[in-house]
Amino acid sequence: MSVRVSSRAVASRSESKYKKPAAMSPLNSSPKVATKKRPESASTSGPRSKETKLNVQSPLEVSETGSEETDLSSSEGDDSTWISWFCGLRGNELLCEVDEDYIQDDFNLCGLQGLVSYYDYALDVILDNDSLSGEMDGEEHNEIESAAELLYGLIHARYILTAKGLNAMHEKYKRAGFGRCPRVFCGGQPCLPVGISDVPRNSSVKIYCPKCEDIYLPRCKYQSNMDGAYIGTTFPHLYLMTYPSAKPAKPVQTYVPRVFGFKVHKGPTR
Ligand SMILES: [Zn+2]
Repeated sequence: MSVRVSSRAVASRSESKYKKPAAMSPLNSSPKVATKKRPESASTSGPRSKETKLNVQSPLEVSETGSEETDLSSSEGDDSTWISWFCGLRGNELLCEVDEDYIQDDFNLCGLQGLVSYYDYALDVILDNDSLSGEMDGEEHNEIESAAELLYGLIHARYILTAKGLNAMHEKYKRAGFGRCPRVFCGGQPCLPVGISDVPRNSSVKIYCPKCEDIYLPRCKYQSNMDGAYIGTTFPHLYLMTYPSAKPAKPVQTYVPRVFGFKVHKGPTR
């Protein structure tokens, strides 16, 4: 990727990282946080607030995917990338890590510039490039974080349609990493994520069962807050065409409603 020189990128390295604004930071009283690589709250204008997500936890809402909860104490290391941090956040278990090489190829990002505000800054956040200025206020930081989330999601929707992306999702699917079908007669069939719109902020992500071929709300409420455009409408179907062995046989049992053992008459259609 070419190096851009921003007139606003004049702050020192320790100040320039997209640190969490003090007003949003109960865990962080110092305005200068050289070692705090990851902001805990990434999005205020997006579909959810990560701060809320990290602080509100209920045992009833534990993800079916078995993913680990985000550990704030582990977010201080410099050895993890923004991408792995973001994909490790609670609720982002349906995403896979996009190859940085893919993101660095401008061809793959064609057309996204018009959809994402602060595009260049957002791209730098995703790729861990230091370009953000310490002169930015908290609101701008939040908007850039939100833009980075949106940009990553839209790149992700494209990436998972490539051979590498399909393979990454295949590995996750084999571990039932996207959850299982809630339908009884599907017998715990692993599901795939799907969007019902490719336009961002139109609808939340759903899970698609390749056995009953229907879609459901994710069981984890954090996952159901994710934008469906981060997966897109094509993914599960292209995946099953690419990996036909992953497609299960159709369910043999269907549920039959009964009253005192007798099938219920369907009656006149209304
Ligand atoms: Zn099913």
